[in-house]
Amino acid sequence: MGLMDGKVALIFGVANKNSIAWGITQKLHEEGATIALSYAGDMLEKRVKPLAAEIGCDFVEQCDVQNDEQLDAVFAKVKERYGRIDTLVHCVAYANRDDLGGRFVDISRDGFKLALDISAFSLIAMAKRAEPLMENGGSIISLTYFAAEKVMPKYHVMAVAKSALETITRYLANDLGPKNIRVNAISAGPIKTLAAAGVPGFRMMLKYAEKAAPLRRLVSQEDVGNTAIWLASDLGSAVTGEVVHVDAGYNILGMTVGEEDLAGL
Ligand code: NAD
Repeated sequence: MGLMDGKVALIFGVANKNSIAWGITQKLHEEGATIALSYAGDMLEKRVKPLAAEIGCDFVEQCDVQNDEQLDAVFAKVKERYGRIDTLVHCVAYANRDDLGGRFVDISRDGFKLALDISAFSLIAMAKRAEPLMENGGSIISLTYFAAEKVMPKYHVMAVAKSALETITRYLANDLGPKNIRVNAISAGPIKTLAAAGVPGFRMMLKYAEKAAPLRRLVSQEDVGNTAIWLASDLGSAVTGEVVHVDAGYNILGMTVGEEDLAGL
């Protein structure tokens, strides 16, 4: 008996085997969920289809989340095939490299709109389309990062997008709560993925997080997947509107240097 037996999960954001979305997909599959995947761009098809085949998933649909017609088409296909969605996973983010790094005040208007549209508005667009397919309630999960709460180097426009995503999480939770649809975000510690490679200085952030976090380790796609199972399944039945940190404890720190680093100050 799996925690997700009989449930249908639609997951956006698998790009390759390192994607956080793939870590979540594998866990949901292990717990018995039927998986439907959506990915962006022709280039990714050759990576995503073989991964889907590994778990016996043959629902693999392309969708650019900036395109309403493509979003409509994916949800219509899920409705036609399964008639419902129990879990919706949003693991999608994008920003122009110019708007990461440099000076925060130099973020461009177009870059701001692009990052916020793909990385934050898309959660509203997906939730609106999922709602009619969640007649028995459901769980919506997205991925955020600590830069939404505190200033992190270079994160710039994506930090603003993540703040928006966290606020959207709370407003959606309030809107959809009466239908027993729960909406939560997982704030993951830094993980080496394709999207993370676009953040200047990311390797340094990995080293720093590992050294400073209370658990003295990085987090993995599997760690995030475990929390996704909690939020997606009945184990999380009364949890909504939350930002759950899966970051080895990094976010609790007010000062991230150890006593040894302070010696001699
Ligand atoms: P990833 O590159 O594997 O995933 C990002 C996904 O966004 C890709 O699948 C990409 O195709 C998709 N995407 C980008 N533009 C899109 C569009 N227009 N339409 C549809 N999809 C589009 O990287 P990841 O790190 O697994 O990212 C997943 C989520 O986790 C993101 O929201 C990211 O911000 C978040 N996150 C990542 C980290 C980290 O350190 N890697 C930490 C915290 C949160």
